[in-house]
Amino acid sequence: MLVLSSPSGAGKTTISKKIQQSDSTFRISVSHTTRKARPNEVDGVDYHFVSEEEFKILLKKGAFYEHSIIFGNYYGTSKNSVDEIIKKNFNVLFDIDWKGAKQLSGFKKLDLLKIFILPPSKEELEKRLVARNQDGKESIKKRVLAYSQDIKHANEYDHVVTNDNVENCFNKILKIIKEHLNN
Ligand code: 5GP
Repeated sequence: MLVLSSPSGAGKTTISKKIQQSDSTFRISVSHTTRKARPNEVDGVDYHFVSEEEFKILLKKGAFYEHSIIFGNYYGTSKNSVDEIIKKNFNVLFDIDWKGAKQLSGFKKLDLLKIFILPPSKEELEKRLVARNQDGKESIKKRVLAYSQDIKHANEYDHVVTNDNVENCFNKILKIIKEHLNN
């Protein structure tokens, strides 16, 4: 099970999709969120978009392996989505924050490979968030502010990779996965 975390905007979603495309043994775990869908996002593909009420009902039922409140929205990994992937014999790829990664680490039976992706700098992160044009000004501000807190958790991961360039970062992660699988 591959866990990718990073400050928001560091390129982790792009890299997750590239891993799934290049290595057919991986499937991305589709999370639930109460965040509004961005214009390019598809329900059931990028996230399961639910209301806060629906999320809280699922939470009460114990439907999630982990969950986190990020920028005022709930995000969670449902047991169903992960179990479906495992049943089909695929490796699971999680695109989740450090709080979720910590909760998954509590499940000792899970074989987790945890990688933290860093942007080259805070300035570069802000530039990317503005350039991708998917979040409002307030949301970008929150994401940049969270950066300093997020990166304090990089040392809880097995590997830290800087995303200076998507191809380089992707190749470094593929190499780490191969090494892990060969051990
Ligand atoms: P975004 O709103 O930009 O799609 O995601 C914001 C943050 O939420 C990202 O750091 C992403 O990795 C994290 N995230 C997405 N899904 C989950 C989840 O199911 N659990 C947790 N803990 N974090 C998630």
